[in-house]
Amino acid sequence: KFLNVIDNQLSILITRIPHGETMDELRYDGQTVVVTGAGGGLGKAYALFFASRGASVVVNDLGGSFKGEGSSSKAADVVVNDIRAAGGKAVANYDSVENGDRIIDTAIQNFGRIDVLLNNAGILRDVSFKNMSDQDWDLVIKVHVRGAYKCARAAWPYFRKQKYGRVINTASAAGLFGSFGQCNYSAAKLSQVGFTETLAKEGYKYNIICNVIAPIAASRMTQTVMPPDILDNLKPDWVVPLVAVLVHSSNTNETGSIFEVGGGHVAKLRWERAKGALLKTGPTLTPGAILKKWKNVNDFSEPSYPTGVADFMTLLEEASKLGDND
Ligand code: NAD
Repeated sequence: KFLNVIDNQLSILITRIPHGETMDELRYDGQTVVVTGAGGGLGKAYALFFASRGASVVVNDLGGSFKGEGSSSKAADVVVNDIRAAGGKAVANYDSVENGDRIIDTAIQNFGRIDVLLNNAGILRDVSFKNMSDQDWDLVIKVHVRGAYKCARAAWPYFRKQKYGRVINTASAAGLFGSFGQCNYSAAKLSQVGFTETLAKEGYKYNIICNVIAPIAASRMTQTVMPPDILDNLKPDWVVPLVAVLVHSSNTNETGSIFEVGGGHVAKLRWERAKGALLKTGPTLTPGAILKKWKNVNDFSEPSYPTGVADFMTLLEEASKLGDND
């Protein structure tokens, strides 16, 4: 039943996404998928799905608490056993994502290749900014920022050499919009957007496609902050189909994008720039001159959608041509 529902969701998505290839069932035979933090929640759903569609899966999980304390091999082992019992191929890895090279090594040693990296592992150490300790800050940044970096860095040479790679990084609404008591997590999660945007630019000519998702799903991370009836509609399984589409070989163009996904909702997000004010540089560029044009600074009636620093340089060029009366 679970796979049927995913199939239905996939076919809806495929008809909407401009892929060259349309398939009834996306498959990943012969590919190796590394899923970090795959012992529970979203990571477990990814691991089960990709194994059921022919991929060999590295099930990474440190097996600690959601605050990043302790470790255990149990979380990863349970998922590997489930996959094998269903006839799939999987191997466990218990390293912290901070040792991403060992996780990618596990893929190479066991399956000889790495095709897809799902940077999913994460922890929370929620506390108001006033009470935040260095440890709360450092641990969250280490797992999310350094962890995603170390895994991608170790996979990158393989991706480049084989001219094929697919990466999903995991952001969060907390990172995109801010969230009370989650300053460390917000900083870590928005970092995944910039990280992905640059990886997408550097990877494109090697057919390395990188996207970032801001998921919402019932897991041990959300079960204490959301009521049960809402959590029932937020199964991790409803995040899987979008990830499946983005990392499939038929996706050769959707890269560097941010998607919100969960509970049946899938939408792309992008940066929007207001009309803005152009002021001549020099002594006339005073606080008062900006205040005079404040309306334009905030005017979203004629927006643009920048995708790189080049857009900004064009604006600077225009500003440099302004006359004394502008
Ligand atoms: P989860 O706690 O169920 O899963 C996270 C997994 O990562 C756990 O199994 C944990 O053991 C593992 N992990 C933690 N630190 C690790 C480390 N250093 N190395 C290896 N594994 C480690 O939570 P989830 O909700 O499934 O979260 C998955 C990802 O989605 C996280 O990055 C989270 O920040 C993000 N996210 C989740 C939601 C949501 O609504 N659930 C919302 C926004 C973002």
